Amino acid sequence: MAYSNTQLFIAGKWRPAHSGKAIEVRNPATEEVIGTVAHAGQSDLDEALAAASAGFKIWRNVAPFERCRIMRKAAAIMRERNDEIAPLLTMEQGKTLGEARMEAMAAADVIEWFAEEAKRAYGRLIPARGPGIYQIAMKEPVGPVAAFTPWNFPINQVVRKLSAALAAGCSIIVKAPEETPASPAQLIRAFADAGVPDGVINLVYGVPSDISEYLIPHPVIRKISFTGSTHVGKQLNALAGLHMKRATMELGGHAPAIVFGDADVASAAKILAAAKYRNAGQVCISPTRMLVQDDVFREFVDKFVDSAKAFKVGNGLDPESKMGSLANPRRVTAIEGMVQDAVGKGAWLETGGKRVGNKGHFFEPTVVSDVPKDARAMNEEPFGPLALISRFSSFDDVVEEANRLPFGLASYAFTSSAKTAAAIGAAVEAGMMSINSFGLALPEVPFGGIKDSGYGSEGGTEAMEGYFNTKFISQTGV
Ligand code: NAD
Repeated sequence: MAYSNTQLFIAGKWRPAHSGKAIEVRNPATEEVIGTVAHAGQSDLDEALAAASAGFKIWRNVAPFERCRIMRKAAAIMRERNDEIAPLLTMEQGKTLGEARMEAMAAADVIEWFAEEAKRAYGRLIPARGPGIYQIAMKEPVGPVAAFTPWNFPINQVVRKLSAALAAGCSIIVKAPEETPASPAQLIRAFADAGVPDGVINLVYGVPSDISEYLIPHPVIRKISFTGSTHVGKQLNALAGLHMKRATMELGGHAPAIVFGDADVASAAKILAAAKYRNAGQVCISPTRMLVQDDVFREFVDKFVDSAKAFKVGNGLDPESKMGSLANPRRVTAIEGMVQDAVGKGAWLETGGKRVGNKGHFFEPTVVSDVPKDARAMNEEPFGPLALISRFSSFDDVVEEANRLPFGLASYAFTSSAKTAAAIGAAVEAGMMSINSFGLALPEVPFGGIKDSGYGSEGGTEAMEGYFNTKFISQTGV
């Protein structure tokens, strides 16, 4: 299966960096070099900025119906090219081919949903205090956007920002992940082939901090959107604040998953294990702290462990694999360290805990139970295949634990009581809660966090709001 080298896309042209600089891309399952990605320098960024500025002037005046038509064509292209795109994603990121196919197909759904929203950028007519006065609140695109996206869902993290920005009438410079560059480039190619005018979308790679420090303060850029760690998000948000730029921040999480004694325990264990080991746990909304009521604790642990053991780990290209490799060696080191730390502090290793083989960044689906609160994994986002299962006795105790950390992205609860469901939904400090299912991350629903998990939304009509300014016009006597 061929892997393609990735170039920059600036002003409608695929090209190498002016410096000729390119860096190696490795397959995390084999550790082999499979290709290269062009590294942009300042002169490349200057061209991208000029292109985004010119592209905005064109695109903001393209009628929403036409924007929608072009975007829907991009969605159709993504579906047609799924068989070409999915293996690239697996080869550079490590996820299974099934997961890669789903990601590319889901991208088409995201594009279509936002394409339709382009037509619904309604304003308001506000009743005036006298005759002949029209008070109009209207939506205008915020302007050229700089988007910074990570390697865990290389297509999905770009498509949400790109689709909302384009639907609103913005142009964009995407700084996509250097470790997984080919699959997001295929997404950009689909938009270009669908007829998005030159300059409206630009794609760069390089040294992430050099690019963000250059683009965020630049006067052409009017809005930034970042997905990644809280640590980096705070730095970029501070820079955005200094230059008064709008920002959407989709940062780390540490999702509590609460299982009450009256829940369907087998179903909860199955749903949570599937969610935990999806994408080898490298998911910001991954259920991380399973908090299980005393009377069903052992039953839940046993069922969860059974599900964990059923995840066959292997090269994502092998159809037998249910969990691929981690995306980079940093994750293996981090998870290994967290398991050792938790067990050293008294947690019980129920299954897993070791890397798999000597080649590739594979790690066993791991479960530790009765993890002390001072274990690192109970405080830092594991971002890997590590499930932490703890027990609780009362509603108040579990709410206190759920809200203990500075994060507030996803949360989950399982109960058969409507009263408990309503109470827990209200009590947990999180941007999202899914009760009795894994019901998050569809294009049409809000997606985002609170507290240290950031702010703004990457889904639903709320996501569109991030790409609009509201302009008020008071018009009298015409
Ligand atoms: P990291 O925090 O350095 O990088 C995360 C992402 O941010 C990468 O894509 C990187 O290219 C980008 N980035 C880093 N510094 C940047 C800068 N100054 N300007 C612009 N972009 C920058 O580290 P990492 O090892 O890649 O990931 C570690 C942690 O990041 C994970 O443990 C996880 O907590 C978090 N993360 C979260 C998500 C998410 O979906 N929210 C995705 C990837 C990583």
